Amino acid sequence: MLNIVHKDIGWIEVICGPMFSGKSEELIRRLRRAEIAKLRVAIFKPQIDDRYSTNHIVSHSSQRIASTPVSSTTEILEKAQDAQVIGIDEAQFFDSSLVQVCQQLADSGKRIIIAGLDQDYTGKPFEPIPQLLAVAEYITKTLAICVKCGNPAGRTQRLSKDSARVVVGAGDIYEARCRFCHEVFEVKPEK
Ligand code: ADP
Ligand code: ZN
Repeated sequence: MLNIVHKDIGWIEVICGPMFSGKSEELIRRLRRAEIAKLRVAIFKPQIDDRYSTNHIVSHSSQRIASTPVSSTTEILEKAQDAQVIGIDEAQFFDSSLVQVCQQLADSGKRIIIAGLDQDYTGKPFEPIPQLLAVAEYITKTLAICVKCGNPAGRTQRLSKDSARVVVGAGDIYEARCRFCHEVFEVKPEK
């Protein structure tokens, strides 16, 4: 699909979609190909995401690639200086400064590949992914399979009643749903 031949200029690629849609698999596939091309690759994920491993990106299909956990986007900027290709998973867990950091890295000639959720559990755009989509050269939207009806699924259903935007979890509290089957529960404040 991506038939990139230009060598010395940087760019941004975003892979987005709901949970279980294959974002991590696609990110791992692109990063492995960069490694095969003998490019210097740096891979990051937010420290908050320690569900399967602290030092690997792990897909729901158990594919994995070594990654460096970082607690801020400044750390990405510092640690990515020698890399030619930079992979970032779970980008929705970083703050809006990620946009500027990715722009700066791409401006300096690097290829940035970002994967993340484009919608939160209520179906609202999940910053900073919308802003990254606006400035990216290449965008891939992945869809999962709705566990209720088998249609393509663009939403992430939260199965717990937590109302916080960020609740780290996997198959235990989230599943993929299409827009028809997706439900948002009214969360009533505790008395
Ligand atoms: P993401 O990074 O988008 O959460 P992953 O790359 O980690 O997705 O995992 C994708 C894999 O998850 C699929 O290849 C498939 O094996 C598995 N999977 C589990 N549930 C679903 C689902 N409802 N729809 C599609 N794939 C699913
Ligand atoms: Zn459905």
